Amino acid sequence: RDSKVHMNNLEDHSFINYKKNIDNLAIIRRRLNRPLTYAEKILYSHLDDPENQEIERGKSYLKLRPDRVACQDATAQMAILQFISAGLPSVATPATVHCDHLIQAQKSGPEDLVRAKKMNKEVFEFLASACAKYNIGFWGPGSGIIHQILLENYAFPGALFIGTDSHTPNAGGLGQLAIGVGGADAVDVLAGQSWELKAPKFIGVKLTGRMSGWTSPKDIILKLAGITTVKGGTGAIVEYFGDGINTFSCTGMATICNMGAEIGATTSVFPFNNSMVEFLNATDRSDIADFAKLYQHDYLSADKGCEYDQVIEIDLNNLEPYVNGPFTPDLATPVSKMKDVAPVKGWPTDVRVGLIGSCTNSSYEDMSRAASIIEDAKKHGLKAKTLFTVTPGSEQVRATIERDGFLHTFEEFGGKVLANACGPCIGQWDRQDIKKGEKNTIVSSFNRNFTSRNDGNPQTHAFVASPEMVVAYAISGDLRFNPVSDTLLGADGKEFKLQPPEGEGLPAKGYDKGKDTYQAPPADRSSVRVAIAPTSDRLQQLTPFKPWNGKDAKNMPILIKSFGKTTTDHISMAGPWLKYRGHLQNISNNYMIGAINIVNKEANNIQNHYNGAWGGVPDTAAWYRDHGHKWVVIGGENFGEGSSREHAALEPRFLGGFAIVTKSFARIHETNLKKQGLLALNFKNPEDYDKINPDDEMDIVGLASFAPGKDLTMVVHPKNGSAWKCPLTHSFNKEQIEWFKAGSALNRMKNVFAA
Ligand code: SF4
Repeated sequence: RDSKVHMNNLEDHSFINYKKNIDNLAIIRRRLNRPLTYAEKILYSHLDDPENQEIERGKSYLKLRPDRVACQDATAQMAILQFISAGLPSVATPATVHCDHLIQAQKSGPEDLVRAKKMNKEVFEFLASACAKYNIGFWGPGSGIIHQILLENYAFPGALFIGTDSHTPNAGGLGQLAIGVGGADAVDVLAGQSWELKAPKFIGVKLTGRMSGWTSPKDIILKLAGITTVKGGTGAIVEYFGDGINTFSCTGMATICNMGAEIGATTSVFPFNNSMVEFLNATDRSDIADFAKLYQHDYLSADKGCEYDQVIEIDLNNLEPYVNGPFTPDLATPVSKMKDVAPVKGWPTDVRVGLIGSCTNSSYEDMSRAASIIEDAKKHGLKAKTLFTVTPGSEQVRATIERDGFLHTFEEFGGKVLANACGPCIGQWDRQDIKKGEKNTIVSSFNRNFTSRNDGNPQTHAFVASPEMVVAYAISGDLRFNPVSDTLLGADGKEFKLQPPEGEGLPAKGYDKGKDTYQAPPADRSSVRVAIAPTSDRLQQLTPFKPWNGKDAKNMPILIKSFGKTTTDHISMAGPWLKYRGHLQNISNNYMIGAINIVNKEANNIQNHYNGAWGGVPDTAAWYRDHGHKWVVIGGENFGEGSSREHAALEPRFLGGFAIVTKSFARIHETNLKKQGLLALNFKNPEDYDKINPDDEMDIVGLASFAPGKDLTMVVHPKNGSAWKCPLTHSFNKEQIEWFKAGSALNRMKNVFAA
């Protein structure tokens, strides 16, 4: 148990420290004197000060020491720009950057990659040089999607990772806690500071029985999303337990943890088990598997009798395939019911495109099961009726499925194999088969399906399902098709039923690593230069935000009172805007352009409070800022759900916003707002949201005595009528209030370093 085992095969400076985890845990056990869940063990054993840390689920703020930081290219730009402005020579925590979001799907994997490298040359060079300079591992374009690379190379049982992407929890499939954060949180850890997380609650999901036939791990999380809704996991870690967890693969567990983000969970995790041993062995990490086995009973499993705040049971014997959507991932419909539901709801039943792969579902097992269905259809002379795309999650998966013939099968079927990148999952899709505005249905094995996410068309009804079901829809072309009960007509005119999918969890011949796209940081980094051209429209050095002026804010206009769902895609759209993620001024031109104005139910059309002119949200915000008016946004429930992108918080700060007042926030977005020096506040009485008129003016008072747990007051001045007081709650702790006062968390960090 005392051996020195490397965290991975790519770095020689990082070792697994189970001994320290166990020592910390002993302190926690003495203090709490109760059985612990598995997630509690990982979390509390990574505490900065286990002896003195206050621990109360849902209440205290934990100061943690993560083992690793990972950033994807779209969020890494701002994270690294912030790290550079902190003035440190190298990162204090092992870290990697992954180029996956900036590659647009257009023609084919190889062609799209060449074009993306050309279009994003400046950004990729900036990231590569900054990684080399600051001692960060760099995975270049073509290497694959961040979460797949982490699972294949870096994740290990019992670890705590943070990543600047909301689907970082994918690595929970390898028995670790992996948590999505904003770039400013990542900068704290990269700079050697502890990372703060509100002590989560714990939801136990008990799996019993065993899946069979057309059901796959994706259906577990699709079913769970239907039970909990997109808000059900907020502030909680989901921990799976029960006999059912030992009946499927490690990559299947990763799929489930990945989509825990869709229920708002802080993260999701499975306890260490044999499927993880098999995956570690298959990815050349037997030393880690053997080491973990030594700690299985005291560290890498839940204590008997541990208590969850909520328990949900799912019987795998009776689980059937689900298809979730459109427009939200929690609208769960069993495949068998879709033929009744879709016509009633008016969803187009003609499926236009089937898309498999992505970070969620591109394992060897997913691909082999998808290929088995296609081979079966081929025997009956059938090919894809719809367009069909395949996004391998990594170069390793792509090379392996190419070697084993699955890529050939997909291409024969009529499929297009895209680059190992996010592509259509994040709107990087040059979709040509329909016109913008045309009502249509697509089905993907991805995780998220908010309006316009995949192709920028608000009329695209996007559904998420398992890769197996996506293939079944691609063959039938009909959303009402249920492969469990329905027949198809073969080329010979005979009816037949598709055979249930079959596949291998891991490749029998081992993984083929494919092309080497990893750049290790050089030993001597002193001569590496990181260049940002002052004329660049892609990258811009950051100017620190001004500190708070010490006064209450008076007579602020409401920039927009948003109506309905306001996700990070509405606040800071992806797709074509991804290219400006390193340029705050340029990306700010997309602020809230997808949010719906409650006044006219239109997107990006609001009225200037002072001159009455109608215009776009970013232009109006900039007008207020340039005319010296701070402003407020009013929002509804789970405001900022979705992505970890901190641009959704940087932009309102850059445009002169002062407070975002909502019924509730999604966790990462709330922290991001605080980090950038904005006031993230909630209505104490949610019905006050309805009492606010978009042309009211607002004061926020009581800031001189701003304190944890103490309400603030918004004085609302209606255009006609008397002012009234609207109480506001908040979740700022002492340190976060210092961020607000300093103007941002980064300013605060620099002040602390300077002191
Ligand atoms: Fe990329 Fe989509 Fe996965 Fe996000 S969810 S990392 S955009 S593939």
